[in-house]
Amino acid sequence: MTMMLRRAGLALLCACLAVACAKPFEADQPGQAYAEAAAQSGAKPTAAARIEADVRWLADDAREGREAGTAGYVQAAEYVAARMAAMGLKPAGQSGWYQAVPLLTAGPVLEASELSFTGADGETITLAHLDDFLVRASMEQETADITAPAVFVGFGVSAPDEGHDDYASLDVDGKFIVRFHGAPDLFDSERRAHYGSSRNKAAEAARRGALGVVGIYTSSAQKRAPWARIAANTGRSSMTWIGPNGAPNVTAPGIVATATLNVDASRRMFEGAAKTYDDVRAQADAKGGAPKGFDLPVRISVKAANRFETLSSPNVVGLIRGADPVLRDEYVVLTAHLDHLGVKQHLVDQGKDGLHNGAVDNALGVAVMLEAARRLSEDPPARSVVVLAVTAEEKGLLGADYFARFPTVDKDSIVANVNLDMPVMLHSFTDVVAFGAERSTLGPIAKSALAEAGIALSPDPFPEQNIFTRSDHYTFVQQGVPAIYLFPGFGNGGEASFGGFMKDHYHKPSDEASLPILYEDVARFADVNVLIARGIADAPERPRWHEGDFFGDLFAGER
Ligand SMILES: [Zn+2]
Repeated sequence: MTMMLRRAGLALLCACLAVACAKPFEADQPGQAYAEAAAQSGAKPTAAARIEADVRWLADDAREGREAGTAGYVQAAEYVAARMAAMGLKPAGQSGWYQAVPLLTAGPVLEASELSFTGADGETITLAHLDDFLVRASMEQETADITAPAVFVGFGVSAPDEGHDDYASLDVDGKFIVRFHGAPDLFDSERRAHYGSSRNKAAEAARRGALGVVGIYTSSAQKRAPWARIAANTGRSSMTWIGPNGAPNVTAPGIVATATLNVDASRRMFEGAAKTYDDVRAQADAKGGAPKGFDLPVRISVKAANRFETLSSPNVVGLIRGADPVLRDEYVVLTAHLDHLGVKQHLVDQGKDGLHNGAVDNALGVAVMLEAARRLSEDPPARSVVVLAVTAEEKGLLGADYFARFPTVDKDSIVANVNLDMPVMLHSFTDVVAFGAERSTLGPIAKSALAEAGIALSPDPFPEQNIFTRSDHYTFVQQGVPAIYLFPGFGNGGEASFGGFMKDHYHKPSDEASLPILYEDVARFADVNVLIARGIADAPERPRWHEGDFFGDLFAGER
């Protein structure tokens, strides 16, 4: 029985990998790729040189931008596995160094998109796709075809801890909800970001039995995301992971389709309703405004379709066995995403550089993690350390989410996550930011670990941007695990160098190894990671959320 299961598992993995690359992984000869790369780059045995060699290899044009599911990503994964093997880490994937992450891509069939509504007078108005509306079928549906009544639900926010519920006294079961983008500015920035995210709002609508979502614009949302820009992006594929049960992961099961209306179409849909679109929009625009919902006198019909494709892309998982006979059964997980954006064909077609090398985002983060792992493995701390290079971050934190939910070590024994993503190191840093430090005991641990080295831990420079929810560590937070995300601080010119990178190179082909990355400083940043990881892994108690922390409380049930 065990043998058969194992064989079946292996066959599945090989089949998955075949999609990405004709050549299967050769985990048996892991040293080769690195040895060749090191020889080519003439790497000297200093931390800075090792990190630079890793960045240059991972961000080389030959990796084709390491997009999840491509051969270039597979090469990068093999390289990271080889580096881990060379430094004596233990393979800790589900099969050797790798955890296969099964992925589902859905490309919208634009020509199948239809939206119409019928008013109380029986007149049907058919809207024009791209001009009046955009629509997506859910990742659960190859084709969506629904007709249902509609209810306006304000922003569609339910925030029980704030005593706010846009659904109060409304019945949306089996209906479309029509709701504004965003959230009322009644809450602090983290609650507003959480309750206002379209994913969380769709999940709330699904819990209440809604069938479809129609988004409409406040004035500020319209300014933030002009119609021409979102219409131009509507053909983009979306991706999710497929769980061990074979079903795609969706945040709002039962929501068949999601549409967005432009301003004119919204006005027409509200004709004959208790209030006009302009009335409710004025309320939503006002400071602290939260328009109350009501039934709309229309039935909405929507059609949409997806073209599906399945693929697989691996996380790479290495283990540093802890030194303490008891604590070694607990795990500190270090993460950095290995994937990037790949080649954008529309740029190539225009004769431009379409290859997104992702040197800073995030070859650099992976290289720092590997250097930290090398140092930790030479003198292991009390707890074990999982070194995890994740896939499909750029597709929505998918590889990290998959590992956080289905880890290859005991889930309850994961005590903390420390993440690295896009450490912009174009200045000589004098301070470090740990996003999320104020939320758990990880903050004091990091602070005292850094104090030893004379490095200041600075507060989050832009709390209103909710960076804490935007990278891989957040998937561990959602499983109840305290986490921090380390970033070079804004002192000594850091703010300007970060701003310049965001403006000129972020998610652009120019994020490449020719950027003036200060590798000696990156090596010091690796020291920071070693100190913090060691501080957590050696602490007598496992980290815990501070009492009353928003995210700690929100996801407490997941542990
Ligand atoms: Zn990115």
